[in-house]
Amino acid sequence: MRLSVVVPCFNEEASIDRLHSAVTLAVQSLTADVEIVFVDDGSDDGTLVALRELAARDSSVKYTSLSRNFGKEAAMLAGLERATGEAIVIMDADLQHPPHLLPRMVELYEQGYDQVIACRDRRGDQFFRTLASRAFYRMVNRLVDVQLVDGAGDFRLLSRRAVDAILSLPEANRFSKGIYSWIGFNTVVFAYTNESRQGGRSKWTFGKLFNYALDGLLSFNNRPLRLAIYGGLALTLLAVAYMTWVVVSAMVRGIDMPGYTTIIVSVIGLGGIQMMLLGIIGEYIGRLYYEAKRRPHYLAKETEMSPLRPRSASS
Ligand code: UDP
Ligand code: MG
Repeated sequence: MRLSVVVPCFNEEASIDRLHSAVTLAVQSLTADVEIVFVDDGSDDGTLVALRELAARDSSVKYTSLSRNFGKEAAMLAGLERATGEAIVIMDADLQHPPHLLPRMVELYEQGYDQVIACRDRRGDQFFRTLASRAFYRMVNRLVDVQLVDGAGDFRLLSRRAVDAILSLPEANRFSKGIYSWIGFNTVVFAYTNESRQGGRSKWTFGKLFNYALDGLLSFNNRPLRLAIYGGLALTLLAVAYMTWVVVSAMVRGIDMPGYTTIIVSVIGLGGIQMMLLGIIGEYIGRLYYEAKRRPHYLAKETEMSPLRPRSASS
């Protein structure tokens, strides 16, 4: 069996060698036919240098270096496109996805699963981050058609046909957690204990995570727009009810002048809600705009087959 391991790397010079040895060790007993596909996602440290050295040393190492930082989604896609294995594992470079789980994943693959998901618990995570992601999953699972599992990230083994299915989706805006869930196939989830990062540091800031969460909510269907319609409807009904009450009480008790408070509060409140809804609509239009551009998901500048090519030598 041919096994591919896809590793997106962004500024991971500290981890690459360690990951390479750990993966090599873990798959030794499984199969001799292994390739490790590293994708350098426009790192500005020594990642690319490390990859060049590794590829020169070990023929099972392939790498693609992207022309700039395109983000993890694009890096993973680049790796999946290059992977030739019958089973493909995606894992992080920072050893947070323990390579010693590989035999277990392959075993489950051989039992006939197309997606073997290693699902981490949240031990050692910051309390606030855990709380935020709980809320996120609850919201997504309610709003979006696909069901996401908390802790089930990109660490998974995919069968060839699952990868082909992923590659056949043309959208520019790739929310991979949703894509994995959308393609379906026989899926099995097993849990492992979270490990903290070895070397380097996480690229996720809270702001990035928040934006990621928004992406997840908006990139699947138009249910948020539907919610907006319901919200608007509810507010309209409320306004009608209030108006009726004002008119009736004016007729019963004579004309009176209620204070500004109601007016100010409703103007500001409604203004806020309208702005938010416009934002939601704008997000969808923005997405259409990006999809319509049909740009490639990433650009590669170097692979192990064309190392350090001068600019004039085009392929
Ligand atoms: N990564 C990437 N491009 C990016 C950000 C991250 O390829 O723009 C890679 C990174 O090198 C690592 C993986 O994605 O292998 C996960 O990143 P990180 O460890 O920062 O995320 P966390 O584990 O904190 O979720
Ligand atoms: Mg990490």
